[in-house]
Amino acid sequence: MSLSAVEGIRDRLPNGTIFVLAPDRTKDVYAISPVVDQVLGYENNQQFPKSPETLTLVFPLSFRSALTLWRKGFPNRIGYASEGRSFLLSKALNYESWKSRHLHQSTYYRELAESVLGPLPVLPPRLVLSENRMEKAKIFIDRNHLRDRRLIAINPGANYGSAKMWPSDYYVSLIRKILDTLPQAGAILFSGEQDRHVTREIMAKVDDQRLASTDGKMPLSESIGLLSFCHYLISNDSGMMHLGAALDMRGVALFGPTDPVATGPMSGKIRLLREPVRCSPCLLRYCPIDHRCMDLLTPERVWNTIREDIFALERK
Ligand code: SF4
Repeated sequence: MSLSAVEGIRDRLPNGTIFVLAPDRTKDVYAISPVVDQVLGYENNQQFPKSPETLTLVFPLSFRSALTLWRKGFPNRIGYASEGRSFLLSKALNYESWKSRHLHQSTYYRELAESVLGPLPVLPPRLVLSENRMEKAKIFIDRNHLRDRRLIAINPGANYGSAKMWPSDYYVSLIRKILDTLPQAGAILFSGEQDRHVTREIMAKVDDQRLASTDGKMPLSESIGLLSFCHYLISNDSGMMHLGAALDMRGVALFGPTDPVATGPMSGKIRLLREPVRCSPCLLRYCPIDHRCMDLLTPERVWNTIREDIFALERK
């Protein structure tokens, strides 16, 4: 969700150099943004060229992030005030004021940059994939005999916690319905190491050669390459949903405990489905009651919502 702000920064500073310091799990996303000059891991940030003109935008809200950047001598650190960290920042913005306006999370990043750069254009995030990454995706598709199929990308996990996850048995029913209805369809389950148990559960229950899984073994950059070959996305509220939006994919996002206003897909091509239960959005990682926000969103309802989109894929 920060990529749109980074696009705006590039528009404002066409001749500037944009470095991103990111943890391993998100480095790949910035590495394929066409507006980022270089991505550095936390470990090798000594390569970061610091000068009095360097502007350091502290995107995370944590105390630790501000402390790390202060310790490493990054100048002009701009971030939101939270966790008592304002004394570590050169300029602290009012986080509570941003939060009280109940805006999309992407505005959190944009307003942070705008506080020093002035108004930025609202630009969609872009991702540009290298030949090498596309080649690896093609190898996966060929190895799983999915070439020439209309590919449905399925992302049934969520790193945040199980509350965001649509039940795996519902995914099983929906995948069976799609594959039984459309002979030309194929489906790919995407997961990371943390949530591959869900894709393994689904693989074990769907007996169809047209279903493949990355099994949590594919690096994020290659998963994005593979996603770009898919024709439709079915996803929980997750990073993969935002990547699908950045790739301009059509699809559906299944929301439960999270807030669609704050983290909904940044593209009208991804429809949002949710059951308006009274306890949602609770923003909890694990449901303390009966997970009704997801359980009441039945596979039949999802199928009825997406069937026209899926049939349209067959006609293309
Ligand atoms: S408390 Fe309500 S909104 Fe939160 S996870 Fe449980 S059912 Fe969903």
